[in-house]
Amino acid sequence: MLRLDVVTIFPEYLDPLRHALLGKAIEKGILEVGVHDLRQWATGVHQAVDDSPYGGGPGMVMLPEVWGPALDDVAAHTGPVAAAAALETAEAHRNVPRHDEVEGIEEQAYLGRDVREGEDPALPLLIVPTPAGKPFDQEDARAWSNEEHIAFACGRYEGIDDRVTQDAKNRYRVREVSIGDYVLIGGEVAVLVIAEAVVRLIPGVLGNRRSHEDDSFSDGLLEGPSYTKPRSWRGLDVPEVLFSGNHAKVDRWRRDQALLKTQQVRPELLEGVELDKKDRELLEGRRDA
Ligand code: SAM
Repeated sequence: MLRLDVVTIFPEYLDPLRHALLGKAIEKGILEVGVHDLRQWATGVHQAVDDSPYGGGPGMVMLPEVWGPALDDVAAHTGPVAAAAALETAEAHRNVPRHDEVEGIEEQAYLGRDVREGEDPALPLLIVPTPAGKPFDQEDARAWSNEEHIAFACGRYEGIDDRVTQDAKNRYRVREVSIGDYVLIGGEVAVLVIAEAVVRLIPGVLGNRRSHEDDSFSDGLLEGPSYTKPRSWRGLDVPEVLFSGNHAKVDRWRRDQALLKTQQVRPELLEGVELDKKDRELLEGRRDA
């Protein structure tokens, strides 16, 4: 069971966590989600969570005196965190049969947790989304799918006073991550992205484990094209090889398409991929797909 706690000034932004596969995971008891309004820890009459930056400049910075106690309560499951009800799955997704449910396939967790030297593996993980963080990737998602407790701190305005993450290292394994080279208004959307990428890798969340084993990035390559019925549509035909019934041929074709797509769109990814003779022949134009 994975427990996710999200601290935000816009709890309603996190409602999508109750829907579709994540809602199903909540229903199955695989996932538990607590969403907490940061203002519960604000003390002044105006319940301010931010103030102007030292050194001047535009915008506001989020207050350590509000974030500190909030993250303390999330780590220890105390105060408003203990009193809060966990999110319930959205009603519309209860008991809806899954299209890719497969019986008899043993579910296996991904190996390896994200524990750095000197860190206590028993501490929960604190994810702090920020454009100044390390880019979040599929390897992080795999490692974090083995966690039991992940907390998210959603920044707004110019972000959170830097001392909050420094201090949080006493109670958490802290990861500052970016979901891409652009600037969002707040961390909530980044949390949805990360939570979805992590939760779908937990055994039992997807009906068929092959759904993520074949995905882009699983073998370092982008995934090639997929097709379904009808065989011919608006003058466009599905490639013949997919009807051959020859699994080796289909696998070779899929590998070739993935290699070509990666070379075209993200050539830098090929540097981290083990290529055999056939792969190199294709990429160097000495063989057709
Ligand atoms: N002043 C910050 C900077 O330039 O790095 C930008 C703050 S941004 C307007 C407000 C919040 O949105 C951040 O604290 C973070 O939570 C979130 N955010 C914005 N862009 C993000 C990204 N690319 N990845 C993850 N979180 C992001």
